[in-house]
Parts: sequence; structure tokens; C-alpha cells
Amino acid sequence: MVDCGAFQGRRQEADEKNRTWDGTESSVSATVLTHAHFDHCGLLPLLCKKGYKGNIYSTAATRDLANLILMDSAKIQDRDAEYLRKQAARKGEKFTWEPLYREADVIAAMEQFVTVSYKRPIFVSRDAEVTFYDAGHILGSSLARFSVTREGGGTIDIGFSGDLGRKNKPIIRDPSLIPPVDYLVLESTYGDRLHEPADDILNRLAQIAGHAVKHGGKLIIPAFAVERTQDLVFYLHLLSDQKRIQNVPIFVDSPMAVSATAIFKLHPECYDEETRNAFTKHHANPFGFNNLTFIENVEASKKLNDLTGPAIIISSSGMCEAGRILHHLAHTIADPKNIVLIVGFMAKDTLGRKIRDRERQIKILGETYIRRAEVEEIGALSSHADYNEIWEYVSGLDLKRLKKIFLVHGEHEAQAHLQEFLLGKGVQAVDIVKRGETYELN
Ligand SMILES: [Zn+2]
Repeated sequence: MVDCGAFQGRRQEADEKNRTWDGTESSVSATVLTHAHFDHCGLLPLLCKKGYKGNIYSTAATRDLANLILMDSAKIQDRDAEYLRKQAARKGEKFTWEPLYREADVIAAMEQFVTVSYKRPIFVSRDAEVTFYDAGHILGSSLARFSVTREGGGTIDIGFSGDLGRKNKPIIRDPSLIPPVDYLVLESTYGDRLHEPADDILNRLAQIAGHAVKHGGKLIIPAFAVERTQDLVFYLHLLSDQKRIQNVPIFVDSPMAVSATAIFKLHPECYDEETRNAFTKHHANPFGFNNLTFIENVEASKKLNDLTGPAIIISSSGMCEAGRILHHLAHTIADPKNIVLIVGFMAKDTLGRKIRDRERQIKILGETYIRRAEVEEIGALSSHADYNEIWEYVSGLDLKRLKKIFLVHGEHEAQAHLQEFLLGKGVQAVDIVKRGETYELN
């Protein structure tokens, strides 16, 4: 099995899907995890809880980040259960909802991990060998290349893209090309979209931060705790070194981002050359600098509300659905001096989406605010390849040998567009994978 993610989306629908997942544990002999995002690892504790006893193979950084993300999920599920139980009790209703898994289940799943470095082939069963290659998506992320022994001799080689990242992302290396394969299972998140050029990121960030500072305002950036926050810190560090942003206090206010950054520090084997040099030659720390403060405890977080004068605050959650970002937004959104900067995908029906759509009336924690703060967006920070970047990667493979591409991990329009696009470029066959369907490889 490759990846074992949780469904995300509307709460009830996602919960239903995750809960009724059949758990293919009886037929799975080994599990390979491409990276630590929740939609790739979120059901691993449930898999193990249902009786899976085999190994879970991943890079070391992926294991560490998965641990952080799964523990966080178990905690949130526990808190939700507690809250819903109290609500039901108040209404005199019967309450049966249980978390999918608890912290103890996460720890048990962690015991089944076997970590492997990039480009170190390992047999995950008698006839299947796996090698991880850089995916350039988040720390530890990989493409997994399987080499499966045929009954009559020889091998069938299959590539799994996991989530395909992008060139020139800060900290981590670019996606690296896997050796030729017969089949490729390919993600398609942005199969119908093109990103803004990445060169603009620094200019835009400098300009937006400069604007907020000049007016004595705050720049509020909702960001995911893993990868996006560290990328932002990296860029702000660069701008600060180049004296392109004024000397204002910068805060990363998210306990999870603090833990994630500690994991980033522990895995220099995942860094690109630039970040490695910063560490080894200049002994600089790309994850922290003078005017940057990481905030872990609640008291210090609350104190930020009393802060007068300009500041930059990065906080989670990424889509503004929960967490400390809500308090920062509540305190700043009505003041025209301030700017909210959107740097990531905002799903439908989230508070983040409403802000991105520049709605006037914004409801935060039960209260309605008139939004006067400006809203800016930098789209180029995405961690997924767009369709041109996907093609750039795929075209590096041996297309004569590549029999078929299977598209996964995308919404229908994106997949339909990517299918046509790849066929137009001369790929022999492209299938959009149907859930529950079996495909024969030969
Ligand atoms: Zn991902």
C-alpha cells in the first residue's frame, strides 16, 4: 500500500468516509509513506488499530513530521469529542461519537515505521524493491519507485509521484528524476492550473510588508505549521539580511510550527545546497534570526494583542478554521492599517476563503466584524507542481517505455485537463483512476 491518508473536507462527510473505510489491512503486506501530510498519513493509526502488523516505510523526516501531525490530530479529535459530549449532555441527547484514534494508537503506529534514506533501495517484500527520490514538496517528501520481480523474470517498474513539488523551493532540494518506469501513478492537484512565477515572491513580500509597516499596521499571515511557515521564515530572513524590510518584530505564533521547525533543524540531510552551506559554512540558522520570535505558550500569544506599532505575525491554522490565527484576525481585521496576507489554498466554506474573497462582514469566533484590513495574496508559494511543471518532470522519463500514467489525487476538472494535456504531449496512455477499481499491470 502506498500512503494511507485521511479524507478532509466538510466535517461530517469526511468523518463518515474515514469511519467507514474498509481498511484493507488483511491484504496489505507492506506500507510505503511518501510524505507526512495528513491526506497521505492520516489513517495509518487506524490501519494499525484494525490489525495491520506490517512495516511502514518512509524517510526519517517523514516519520518525524507524521508523528507530529498525527499526534496533533489525535489531540484535536479528543478535544472535539469532549466538546460534543458536553453539548449533547446539555441538550439531553445520547452521545456516541468516538475519535477515530487516540494518542496511544499513534504511538503504536510509530513503532511500525522503518526509515530509509533517499536513494537507498530496500526490499519491502520478497519481490518488491522500493527506492525513495526527492519530491521537492515538503521536508522528507519522496517519490517512491517500485521494482517488482515478474514471474517469468525481469521486473515491472512503477513510479508513485506522491505529491510532486516544485523547483527552487527554499530549504529542500528540487524534485529528482526517477529512473525509467513502465507505469507512473501521478498526482493531479493542479492539473488545470499554472502558478505565478516564483521570482516575484520576494518582491511581493517586501512590498506588502513595507506597506503595512509604513502605516504602522500589522501584517497577519495565516499559514500551515509545516513547510509553509518555515518557507516564510526563510524568505523574511533573506529580506531582513538584504535590508529590504524594516526592522520590525516578527512572530511565529503556533506551538505546532515551533515543533515542526525543530524537526526541520534535525534533518539537514534533506536540505538543498544553499541551506546546507548556511548551516555548515556560515553557521547561520535559516530558521531563526534576530527580530524573529517563536511563541509557544498561550500567555505570550495573548500579549501580542496588546502590541502597538507594526509587526508581522505568522500563525496557524492555514485556512483560518481554528487555532490562534482566529484571535489575531479578530484583533486586527477591522483596522484599515492592517493587512491579511493569503499564502495558501483556501477551501470552500472556510473563513480563509471568505477573507480571500474579500467579504465585508466576517464572522470570527461567533462575532461579526466589518473587514477594513486590506487583503493581499501571493499564489506562488504553492508546494504542488502546476501542469507545466508536471510535464517538465514527466518528459524527463523514457516515454517510449512508459506504458501508462494513472492519475490520482485531484478533482475531476483538474484530472480531465491533465489527461488531455499529457496525451497531447505524446504520452501513450493516461487513465483517471476510479475508486475501488482494479488495474492489471503487465
Ligand atoms: Zn502533500
